[in-house]
Amino acid sequence: MRKYYIGIDVGGTSMKMGLMSESGEVLAEAEHLTQKEDGPDGVIARMVEDAKQLADGAGISWNQIGGVGVGLPGFLDIPNGVVKYLTNLGWRNVPIKEKLEQAWQVPVSIDNDANVAALGEAWQGAGKGVDDLVCITLGTGVGGGVIAEGHLLHGMNGFAGEVGHIQVDREGVRCNCGQIGCLETVASATALVRMAREAIDQGRETVLTAESLSAREIFSACAKGDPVASEIVAKAIDALARTLAVLSLVLNPSRFIIGGGVAKAGDVLLNPLREAYEKEAQDNVKQGVEIVLAKLGNRAGFIGAAGLLARGRK
Ligand SMILES: [Zn+2]
Repeated sequence: MRKYYIGIDVGGTSMKMGLMSESGEVLAEAEHLTQKEDGPDGVIARMVEDAKQLADGAGISWNQIGGVGVGLPGFLDIPNGVVKYLTNLGWRNVPIKEKLEQAWQVPVSIDNDANVAALGEAWQGAGKGVDDLVCITLGTGVGGGVIAEGHLLHGMNGFAGEVGHIQVDREGVRCNCGQIGCLETVASATALVRMAREAIDQGRETVLTAESLSAREIFSACAKGDPVASEIVAKAIDALARTLAVLSLVLNPSRFIIGGGVAKAGDVLLNPLREAYEKEAQDNVKQGVEIVLAKLGNRAGFIGAAGLLARGRK
């Protein structure tokens, strides 16, 4: 009888993994260094062993494992289970699904990190019980994942949900993707810090100092009424609200889930975001829409990865 699933969230520095029941309960979890210098074969070999140990340690025999889901940070051929390119790890053209299925003899599914985080929140977090939602992660970059009518959306090339690269400012700065003025260049933690540094360099009056710049410092200065911090936060919120308004027209979700380091600001971010969304979004699509914080933190990835199989691909 197969009743348990393993989810693995592979990041540039660490791999988080969890053993889960079919109903989504986390029974055991572990975190290991990725040690990317070992290359794909080395990392995959350790992943194989670590997952087996996780099950073993929880008293679950491997033949009770129904499948393993893996979240990966980069460009993937999801249906074929092939890594095309992982920026952080430098992997190219790795048939990871085939390698893992050979080693484990169970079904393996892969998906990108933003999608598994969205699926995790949808399955067991802030989106539990909701069929239409958009999850936006405001971290070093801006990631996104869309669940529409219960399905995790991928689109033709797996880029569905890449909301961080929606253009919000034609006159803005160049994004890592090559385009000008993506949401990521205005609303990521990196962007907030960049804008604060520019203001300091221009000699503007602010409590912020170049030595201790972080999204957290900026939100805390904003809460105290610092004009520079308030202006930066307002700019990010305006861009976010306009993005949510557009997404509402395309997808008509009932809930937006905001996660990542920037979301730790909590109400200082959410309250003005809700107000701005209320102004930007059309009446027909904004009724009953909730904007909430993500619940699972950095566990969302492995929970969603396990969900790729446990929840079934609807
Ligand atoms: Zn971009």
